[in-house]
Amino acid sequence: FLNDRIVKLAIPELASSINKNLDIENIIQHARNITKHVHIAGTPNNLRVAEYIRDQMISQGLKNVHFNEYEVLLNYPNFKEPNKLEILDSNGDVVYETSGLSEPLIKSEQNEIEGKIQWLAYSAPGEASGDVVYVNKATHQDYDILKNSGINVTGKIHIARHGTAFRGNIARNAEKNGAIGLIIYSDPAIVASLGTQKANVFPNTNKMPGSDVERGGLYIGLGDPQTPDLPSIKNLYRSKSIQELGEDHIIPNIPVIPLPYEHIANIFEKMNGDQPVDSTFVGKLNATYKYGPGLKNKEKVRINVKSEFSKRKIQNVFGFIEGEVEKDRYVIVSNHYDAWTYGAIDPNSGTSTLLDVSKSFKQYQNSTGWKPFRSILFAHWDAEEFGLIGSSEFTQEYRVQLMRRAVGVINMDIIGGNKTLNVFANPSIVNVIRNAAKRVEHPLKSEHIGGSKNIYNVWRRTKPSKNPLLIDPEYMRPAGGSDHAPFYDYLGVPIITFITSDESMLTYPLYHTIYETKFLAENIQDRDSYKTHKAIGELFIDMTVQLSENEILPYDIHELVSEIYSDDIPSIFTALQENQSNLDKNYNIPSEQAVFLNSTAFDLLNFIESRKNNEYSTVFDKITENNHLIEFEKCFILPQGQNGNLNARHLLYHPNSENWYHNKGLQQIFATITQIKKSTNNIEKLAHELAQEIAQITNALICAKHSLNYL
Ligand code: GLU
Ligand code: ZN
Ligand code: ZN
Repeated sequence: FLNDRIVKLAIPELASSINKNLDIENIIQHARNITKHVHIAGTPNNLRVAEYIRDQMISQGLKNVHFNEYEVLLNYPNFKEPNKLEILDSNGDVVYETSGLSEPLIKSEQNEIEGKIQWLAYSAPGEASGDVVYVNKATHQDYDILKNSGINVTGKIHIARHGTAFRGNIARNAEKNGAIGLIIYSDPAIVASLGTQKANVFPNTNKMPGSDVERGGLYIGLGDPQTPDLPSIKNLYRSKSIQELGEDHIIPNIPVIPLPYEHIANIFEKMNGDQPVDSTFVGKLNATYKYGPGLKNKEKVRINVKSEFSKRKIQNVFGFIEGEVEKDRYVIVSNHYDAWTYGAIDPNSGTSTLLDVSKSFKQYQNSTGWKPFRSILFAHWDAEEFGLIGSSEFTQEYRVQLMRRAVGVINMDIIGGNKTLNVFANPSIVNVIRNAAKRVEHPLKSEHIGGSKNIYNVWRRTKPSKNPLLIDPEYMRPAGGSDHAPFYDYLGVPIITFITSDESMLTYPLYHTIYETKFLAENIQDRDSYKTHKAIGELFIDMTVQLSENEILPYDIHELVSEIYSDDIPSIFTALQENQSNLDKNYNIPSEQAVFLNSTAFDLLNFIESRKNNEYSTVFDKITENNHLIEFEKCFILPQGQNGNLNARHLLYHPNSENWYHNKGLQQIFATITQIKKSTNNIEKLAHELAQEIAQITNALICAKHSLNYL
């Protein structure tokens, strides 16, 4: 049967033949059509975008194009009454007031009220008034610095600036530290690095003007907050009330507003405090940074959030190319389509590219009769911005099927710059993006990228490995932040997710602003004929071909295990040693467990090495080997979540509890060791917990080895 397949080309040639169908004009046209209006998830405008995507995929001739719908808890501002900040004098009269609206700078394309309004989803509604205090990035270290400086932050409205943490973590920390309200702003140090004068910000550059803000969600989690364990199918039970979500600190209990940095400068001018702030608290505002608390002349600050929770229908949009042999195995290639404003960069730079990618595959199929070895699912997710909702609900509804049938997820979100890749991946498939990046030419002229020709070289030069012995560029272990998360974390399906950027920041200065319109995409971000969009299309195609066409799945399970063996396990030993004094001699069970973990990992590595030259000649052998490989990473999934944390079901990788965007690997183990370090009693209980956590990894490795064998 296999011999009948029309396989004329090797993978690189096949990818480059499909690439030839990419058409920059098409990508631009899709982007224009999709970003004409503000399209927030759950609104009629976003349904219209969904219909556009669906109709495009139907006309491309994809199979089984359809909506995959859920009814989920979303949250909206009151579009008639924007969230404001007021300053009141000692008589209670308003002496300063913000509008809560951004100023359109290109009126023809930025004039809708839904885009102007400045808000953060899932803030608690209501009012807070009192004294303000500046808390820098609202990290634990920042609050420690404040405490050591004698600043009382309890019962105050905190002002925090964006750093590297997800804004939901900023809100959670502020609330934990006694904030009664929170103001978040973007400091010019990050978003207006050329200076805040007109000439240096949008529309003259890609930097943020002083009148705008980063919008976004504050909920931390995977999917509809009311149904953490079930898909949000209409009439299916919802286990959480809105009140419980606050009690569980899944959403904030305090009002939170974003504020343009020009207002923050004015607030600093009015602020109390003679003490100079810690130097890490100083950004690039044209003002003197102060801790506060409070304003001069007994002035008070009042913030007010008007918003509503609302159950709305959302729809993921799917289209397929059917595989010839492994028909019920899917490579999932995806991007979300809902946006906070017009979405020109986040996410429809990706949506428009992905639409031309599926078209390119289909055109190639139509002209040659080629079918991939396994199926390809092109997925456009909805309600990503509110908390990865469309993708997570899908993984909850199809949990069992996806665990057996999804071979990998290639997710994109943002073409935020022309320079380099930011890659998050499971070690088991990171090689797929390395291979692709070596074959795709970098879109910039070589003088801008130091003479490097392909994307891989620039990636390696801009992000060299932290380990000097490794030649491959640095990549990050998967965390939260986009729709890949539920796949690796709930299901153990390996993922690659990537965005492009120019600067040291992960995103781009106009991220989630009203200025994410056509002008930004076409005249600023990808002004050199949209070449970066095309290059990303080629990268998508190459990775999809590798995952759909390699008859044996291109999983590098050796990389997965060797990382545990040579990185994680040595760190456990070091950490245990450092804490030996706290771990009383009687509690050396964790060390014993670490020794067993080490030998188990060593044994598995050797076993993987020994089967390197195995040959699989018949199609049945190949399919069986693929079954085994797919099982392998499922061994690391703990269905109940580590310590009951449903956002931490993958034993090795899951979003960090301090920062949803980051992941350190084996976090639970290191968190328990830190607890042991800090504790004086309870050590025995903690030692047993730690032993159990180490044993879970060992057991996952034992399980993984079984996956590669017949029983
Ligand atoms: N990408 C969105 C953001 O960064 C949502 C992230 C998430 O909820 O994980 O705001
Ligand atoms: Zn996005
Ligand atoms: Zn976004």
